[in-house]
Amino acid sequence: MRERLTSLATSDALTGLLNRRSLDEALNHLARDNRDEAVACLMIDIDHFKRFNDNYGHDAGDVVMQHVGQIMRDTVGKAGKVFRFGGEEFTVLLPQATEAQGLELAERLREQIAATPFSHRGRILGSVTISVGAASSPQDGPVTTLVTRADAALFRAKSGGRNRTVAASVYSPAA
Ligand code: GH3
Ligand code: MG
Ligand code: MG
Repeated sequence: MRERLTSLATSDALTGLLNRRSLDEALNHLARDNRDEAVACLMIDIDHFKRFNDNYGHDAGDVVMQHVGQIMRDTVGKAGKVFRFGGEEFTVLLPQATEAQGLELAERLREQIAATPFSHRGRILGSVTISVGAASSPQDGPVTTLVTRADAALFRAKSGGRNRTVAASVYSPAA
């Protein structure tokens, strides 16, 4: 019973991933007690997902979100934690990881998701792509700005054409 209540409070109902509240707690903990601990953060957003829902329906979109969540869990494994940030956006926290290691994992995630064909009720839906922004702490800034920095990199990945990973530390003239 207690386990069930804890899981309800910390996880997202659709994907089973950790929820936004868990992410806030993890970040608060890092900011309060582990300022020097290295951590990489990935902000991930499914590309053109509104169009996907429009084409295939919201139920099919939900199923894809569940599959994408599972792929992220499998690919990240014990290296870190996967959160549903909100909507079709996800966050990965990688303890003891540099931005370069974060980028490497982001690219594996991106390739894995793009290479997976989805289906729903016997209907082939094709695949989806993701855009990713990567940042790290304390290497490139405090943990209090980790998500903001990764999100700014994600924005650049979107404006750069989507289906790509951008590092927060890399200046992009397109930004
Ligand atoms: P972009 O590449 O710029 O991210 O385009 P986008 O269409 O993905 O972005 P936008 O923010 O315009 O739309 C997000 C879409 O994601 C719209 C919303 O219906 C869909 N979405 C968010 N959460 C869920 C969900 O839980 N289930 C389903 N099926 N769709 C969702
Ligand atoms: Mg979005
Ligand atoms: Mg999107």
